[in-house]
Amino acid sequence: MELPFAESWKIKMIEPIRKSTREEREKWIKEAHYNTFQLRSEQVYIDLITDSGTGSMSDRQWAAMMLGDESYAGASSFFNLKNKITELTGFGYVIPTHQGRAAENVLFSHLIKAGDIVPGNSHFDTTKGHIESRKAFALDCTIDEAKNTQLEIPFKGNVDPKKLEKALAENADKIPFIIVTITNNTAGGQPVSMQNLKEVRVIADKYKKPVLFDSARFAENAYFIKTREKGYENKTIKEITKEMFDLADGMTMSAKKDGIVNMGGFIATRREDWYEGAKKFCIPFEGYLTYGGMNGRDMNALAVGLDENTEFDNLETRIKQVEYLAKKLDEYGIPYQRPAGGHAIFVDAPKVLTHIPKEEFPAQTLTIELYLEAGIRSCEIGYLLADRDPVTRENRFGGLDLLRLAIPRRVYTNNHMDVIAAALKNVYDRREKITRGVKIVWEAPLMRHFTVKLDRL
Ligand SMILES: *Cc1c(COP(=O)(O)O)cnc(C)c1O
Repeated sequence: MELPFAESWKIKMIEPIRKSTREEREKWIKEAHYNTFQLRSEQVYIDLITDSGTGSMSDRQWAAMMLGDESYAGASSFFNLKNKITELTGFGYVIPTHQGRAAENVLFSHLIKAGDIVPGNSHFDTTKGHIESRKAFALDCTIDEAKNTQLEIPFKGNVDPKKLEKALAENADKIPFIIVTITNNTAGGQPVSMQNLKEVRVIADKYKKPVLFDSARFAENAYFIKTREKGYENKTIKEITKEMFDLADGMTMSAKKDGIVNMGGFIATRREDWYEGAKKFCIPFEGYLTYGGMNGRDMNALAVGLDENTEFDNLETRIKQVEYLAKKLDEYGIPYQRPAGGHAIFVDAPKVLTHIPKEEFPAQTLTIELYLEAGIRSCEIGYLLADRDPVTRENRFGGLDLLRLAIPRRVYTNNHMDVIAAALKNVYDRREKITRGVKIVWEAPLMRHFTVKLDRL
């Protein structure tokens, strides 16, 4: 018989996790003001709040850490990292930062001024935050199909070339660059095709605008190009990665995702002017240029992580696990953003909690129910995260309201996936009885979802 699929690694070190009782969880979630970000990790059994910085490093990464060079300037670890990034992307200038948002902060300080417009595909929340805090606008040019969670198309993260062209035709003088997020996190970890990246490049060239890739999950994006896009079946992930970045001027990276490190990020670019501009902000915000926000040991681990995670086997193991969970949800009829994304499953909450109006935050309500059911921590990628319109201060209810089950890299087994699916099924089976959501008691003016305090209605 054909051998079944299995992980491309084995486990060398484990970390115990603990179950809790429903009574304990009732108390803890109340104390957390019904915000899963406010729970303590010991209060969580299976933690799917994010795939960011939560992956397991390999033995090779841990070995590289021991060889970290902590010299203040010119550390060998920096050059290990820089050389690996240049090999994978072709970008010759590299600035390490403490995480992805710091890369945004440093680069955007140079590139964005008040009144600018930055078009792209569903800007990530910190990206949008760094644009809006500079009194500029993040213009979403994602394809409309991304909003229909039940539509199954291979590259649902794409930029709509018509929307992008329109933005440039009308406001070229206000647009400092175009940003493409690979994979499109906010739209559900959905990939962007090579074809689409090429179309964006053509439009950018027509208007002489640079293109920045927000690259947190570029390797997962390359996996989807290999497995879904014609002409790429026989290319290696590293070849595809290089071809993708050939279409950009630079990248910001949250290394906590596809770099498989717990903390880190960087800016990389081929443009000397971006590098020179960013340098001026790196030193005061992050640190000297050859470490930015990172330890030498962490730069070493990242160099290895980037190399490992641009290998097909490692990516296949990961993405197949996400697919495994998706198939279970299919069995139970639970609606999610289709097809399953690279790093997470995004459950379409308003389709589950049909009795809860948008003003009562259906996806947030579902995160609370899933936690109460089995101690599984997920997060809301929906109306709370969408924040308020900076001008009208109205809640932005125009997008999707999703519960995200983010799967950490190389951490949980498929048995854990079975538990997650069963818990969600139990909630789904009693969905008719869940008739009231939550209301906001306190919120921060920017990126409110991390600290928002809620009460149950
Ligand atoms: C996580 C992420 C960021 C921000 O990176 P941090 O390391 O969390 O600061 C930016 N863009 C995308 C697409 C991300 O997923």
